Amino acid sequence: MSVRLQGVAAAPGLALGRAALWHPRAGHGPEAPGDGAAPGDPEQAMARYREAARHVRAELESLQQVVAGRAGTEAAAILGAQALMAEDPELAAEVERLLRHGTPLARAVREAGEAMAALLDALQDPYLRQRAADVRDVTGRIAAALAGGEEAPPAPYEDTVLIAPEIPPSAVARLDVGRVRAIVTAGGGATSHAALLAKGLGIPAVMGCSGVLEAATEGDAVAVDGDAGSVLVRPEPAEEEAFRRRVARAAEEAAGLARLRDLPAVTAYGRKVMLAANLARAAEARAALEAGAEGVGLFRTEFLFLDRPDLPGEEEQFAEYRAVAEAMAPRPVVIRTLDIGGDKFLPALPLPREENPFLGWRGIRLWLDREDLAVPQIRALLRAARHGEVHILLPMVADVSEVRRARALIERVRAGLGEAAGPYKLGIMVEVPAAALAADRLAAEAEFFSIGTNDLVQYTLAADRGNPKVAALSDPLHPAVLRLIDMTVRAAHARGIPVAVCGDAAGDPRVIPALVALGVDELSMPPAAIPAAKRQVRSLTEADVQAAIRGL
Ligand code: PEP
Ligand code: MG
Repeated sequence: MSVRLQGVAAAPGLALGRAALWHPRAGHGPEAPGDGAAPGDPEQAMARYREAARHVRAELESLQQVVAGRAGTEAAAILGAQALMAEDPELAAEVERLLRHGTPLARAVREAGEAMAALLDALQDPYLRQRAADVRDVTGRIAAALAGGEEAPPAPYEDTVLIAPEIPPSAVARLDVGRVRAIVTAGGGATSHAALLAKGLGIPAVMGCSGVLEAATEGDAVAVDGDAGSVLVRPEPAEEEAFRRRVARAAEEAAGLARLRDLPAVTAYGRKVMLAANLARAAEARAALEAGAEGVGLFRTEFLFLDRPDLPGEEEQFAEYRAVAEAMAPRPVVIRTLDIGGDKFLPALPLPREENPFLGWRGIRLWLDREDLAVPQIRALLRAARHGEVHILLPMVADVSEVRRARALIERVRAGLGEAAGPYKLGIMVEVPAAALAADRLAAEAEFFSIGTNDLVQYTLAADRGNPKVAALSDPLHPAVLRLIDMTVRAAHARGIPVAVCGDAAGDPRVIPALVALGVDELSMPPAAIPAAKRQVRSLTEADVQAAIRGL
């Protein structure tokens, strides 16, 4: 008899394979290897600890490279942050303290890791809470290294479905992607770093699937639906056949979309719309090109600054911006200046607590006040502009004066760079209603606009973008939002400058017809959304798009 289980859809895709049950030996179970060992000399134990931590750091750094190359996603940064954690001085100090109190080394590592994870667990910020699992993963690996090495997740079949109580992010990064078709875990959730990594690697995953460990035995056939979050253990022949047909249909669909790659995104009535990619790291450029992106419409530089204890300097930023510019050349790459504050924070840059952070010191406001951040970024951007077509985009603009100040600063830096600076265009993000309402004034100050619908919707409808209680209000098709987009496009086109949309709405099939109807020139979205958007744009008739804004 088949068993159907429901979990959480953690990474999309369908897969049929054989169950490999995995109970990772190391880590943070109630007992870890070596827990009961007699305490030895603390000095010697500490030396062993440092050696193991160094080893784990090196391993995580090389995994980071592998994942960046293979998945090309911001996911690789998770492993980079974990690599740093491995040699965290506070963690080492806590291990040392426990050793001096006579705790055996393996238990000291586990307890120190648990103490650090518990602190993070207790925090309000979901992002920081997420890191608790990462800390446990790292200290689990150190404990495993001390016990003689960690087992890699098994991949005994060429169609392995890995089933585990939980899976730490670093184990996802070590999966044999040629043989592991899907992951199912009893615990964990869709927003975990492990889920993000699975998505980046294109491995379907269902997490929080309680009962799976009891239902499946080694080698069982398992059908995993990473879109719906469901798992079918030992499907009946008819069920298996139906699932196989779905897998085949999905593969056909993907092949059909791939064939569109080199065709232009032109509507059925002949209007060209540029489709571009939103990227977080240069390593993702490959995925953008494979998806048929005609450029990068939004490069969010924050990701270079997140998940690390220090700030990236000019050289590191230059290398990243240059890499994305070169990879995409001769296509344009729009790089947004650092957009933090609101819901985005940097470990290396503690910001004052604000009553209303979304209405506070964020985006261009903070950036203009902090030349120590802005100047190295501008230098890196202008230097990268010699290696491709780099455009600079300013986030959170509410007033003309901000754009003037930004341009003056950029020009000052450019004068200092002389020959080392390349040509650039300056664009404005329209994501504050004031910018849309005064778009005619702003259009005189910039070479292009990019509408950030995520923020424009939240500010227009006064509905926090991260609050699920008001999610129903957050509708980019609300007439108030569409009217602001309309005003923006009209003002831009009156001045002869193009308008992109780079918020989530740009890749949303429900919203695309309205955006095309309003005259938006470019849609910028995650690379994975481009093929379907292209198919939709190519099928749009004039009647379709007019219907989308009827009555506006
Ligand atoms: C937006 O607000 O729509 C946008 C693209 O910026 P972010 O999502 O990074 O705030
Ligand atoms: Mg925004």
